[in-house]
Parts: sequence; C-alpha cells; structure tokens
Amino acid sequence: MSDLNRQWLLASRPTGMVTETNFEFCESPIPKPGEGEVLIRNLYISFDPAMRGWMEDRESYLPPVAIGEPMRAGCVGQVVESNNPDFQPGDLVQGMFGWQEYAIGQAGGLSSPSRVPGDIPMTLPLGPVGITGFTAYFGLLDLGQPKPGETVVVSGAAGATGSVAAQIARIKGCRTVGIAGGAEKCRWLLEEARLDAVVDYKNEDVDARLRELCPAGIDVYFDNVGGALLEIAIGQIAMNARVVLCGGISGYNDEDPAPGPRNIMNLVIQRGRMEGFIVLDYMARAGEAIGDLSQWIASGEIAYAEDIQEGIENAPRTFFRLFEGKNLGKQMLKLCEPPLEIPPR
Ligand code: NAP
Repeated sequence: MSDLNRQWLLASRPTGMVTETNFEFCESPIPKPGEGEVLIRNLYISFDPAMRGWMEDRESYLPPVAIGEPMRAGCVGQVVESNNPDFQPGDLVQGMFGWQEYAIGQAGGLSSPSRVPGDIPMTLPLGPVGITGFTAYFGLLDLGQPKPGETVVVSGAAGATGSVAAQIARIKGCRTVGIAGGAEKCRWLLEEARLDAVVDYKNEDVDARLRELCPAGIDVYFDNVGGALLEIAIGQIAMNARVVLCGGISGYNDEDPAPGPRNIMNLVIQRGRMEGFIVLDYMARAGEAIGDLSQWIASGEIAYAEDIQEGIENAPRTFFRLFEGKNLGKQMLKLCEPPLEIPPR
C-alpha cells in the first residue's frame, strides 16, 4: 500500500451554492494508531445533503466541520491495524471517518468505529439499514403515523431516504404517491418501488397532478425538499394531516433563506400537525428499525437503489450530484476493495 493518505479538507465556508473551491485536496502520511485506536482504510463514503449544513459556521445538532479538517462523512471501512482488543485487522466497521482514504478510529466521539453486521451487504449500513433507513422509518412511523387506507405523499421519493419512507407507507397499507425529478426516477418508483402513483415535478404541474391523485387530500406528507413543493402539499392536506419535516434540500444552498410556506394557516383550518425531527435522537431505538428494515429488504418488500461513484478524487463531484438530482437512491463513493481478508464471524 502507498504510504500516503489522500484527503479532502474543508478549505472555506460556502456562500450560496457549494463549489469545489470550498475543498482542498491534499496528501499526508498515513497516521499511526495510538493506544486503544485503530487504523481504518475507507471502502465507501456516504454522501448526505446535511453535509452542506455542517460546512457552515453555526452550531446545529452537530458542531461545524473546522476549516482544515477532513470533510465529515459516514463511511464503511476495514480495520488495517489495531491497538484495540475489540477490533482485529480485517474487521469491517462504520463511523464518521471522513473524505479520506485512511482514518483513525477512537472510542467515543464521531470517529468511533462500530462493527458492520456480518449478514448484510457492506453498503447497506450507509443506506436503508443505517441512518438513512432509520430516518425514513422513525420519521414516517413515529411522526407521520400512517394508517391503512390513508394517502401518503413523499417528496424526494427516488432518493435514499424518500424511497424507503415511501415503501414503508406502501407496506403499511397506504395509498402512496412519490414526487421526484425525471422520467427514469418515476419509472423506478412505479416499477421497482411499486408506489401507487408518481409526480414528475420537473415536467408536470405538481399542484394539478396531486389534486387528481389525492382527491380526498393528503393525510401524511413526508417532506425532504421544502420550498415550493412543501407549500403545494400544505395546500392539499386532509383533515388532521401530519406533515413530517425531514429535510429541505431545495434551500440548502440558498444564500438568503426563502420565506416559508404562505399557506401555513391551512394547518389551522385542517387541524393538521407539522413537525421536524433529527434521526440522531432515535439511535437508542435503532434495533427496532434494523429488525424491520432488514426483513423488508430480505423479503423484497423494500427495493433499494445505490448510486456508486468511484475514486477519492471525485468526492466533491459526488457530493454535488445530490443537489443536481443525479443520484437514484443512496449516493456513495467507492474507494477500494477490502485490502485484507474479512475474518469469519
Ligand atoms: P437523496 O434524497 O438521496 O438525494 C437528494 C435528492 O434531492 C436529489 O436526488 C434530488 O432528487 C432532490 N433535490 C435536490 N435538489 C432539489 C430541489 N431544489 N428541489 C427538489 N428536489 C431536489 O438524499 P437523502 O440523503 O435521502 O436526504 C433526503 C432529505 O432527508 C434531505 O433533505 C436530508 O437533509 C434529509 N435528512 C434528514 C435527516 C433528519 O434527521 N431529519 C436525516 C437524513 C436526511 P430529484 O431528482 O427528485 O430532484
């Protein structure tokens, strides 16, 4: 193996749309693990819209990434050297190892490694059987509380989170409508994810199509996008609707936040509830989600898609795909094959 660690550091904080100049590519010596630490070689990096928020200089549910630090990201990697009796060279682990080829894993803190379950493909903990799937699961079931026969509409429906949320709604017996951009994503939602209907927001009149598809109104709106689509959905909620605010990607690169929905009074008129959440608050209950999601995936009730780009040099460009809508399903970057044999478990 080369003795250099190729990394992308945060170079500056974006104003408006994030660009490659906000990152700096660098090579540094591969770090040595200290007492109790492990050296991890990253295999897959997860890309999440929330990373755009972590680049800003404001306290949020996680601290900002510091200038000069490797860009933060969830990863799956392999232990290549271990000074920790809990991990052996070869073990597959996940954690916030960042946009780099090698990382030091320490117990506690964001870079704390945890073992990848042995019975599922190694990319699933970055997608439907990890934070992404948990977001869909707890957001839809705890906040959305869908009931059989209700109408559930999901925006960003062909994305990592939306595709899982929409299929859970279908599994729970709801009439499920997905909103996504483009014919290929809409085809996937109908044929692979087996939703009842789709709206191509880039090519159709969303307001008119939703009125046709949801004549009795929307009971649950699971929102990944915010902006104009949120306003349209609020305008069509049924009595006692639940609007789940999962994310608002349409505004993440706005220099000045756009004003909120103008028709918020419809929540009053329809006795609706609109509520946000952060998945990290549900980690103590991850076992519930892992059990259901693994079973639904194994039985084929949940279809999942992965968009896997390759090569550490492509990290920023892979990130931008989320904002360009180029990804179908979970956006990841593959760095290498496992360099060591994976120990049997
Ligand atoms: P994703 O949906 O796989 O990828 C982002 C998708 O957003 C793109 O493929 C694109 O799909 C859509 N998009 C981009 N710009 C848009 C725009 N201007 N208007 C409408 N759609 C746009 O990403 P993800 O990781 O699953 O995240 C989805 C949402 O969940 C994000 O808002 C994220 O912040 C949120 N999230 C929240 C939590 C939480 O704890 N609350 C946790 C994880 C993720 P189209 O081609 O269809 O436009």
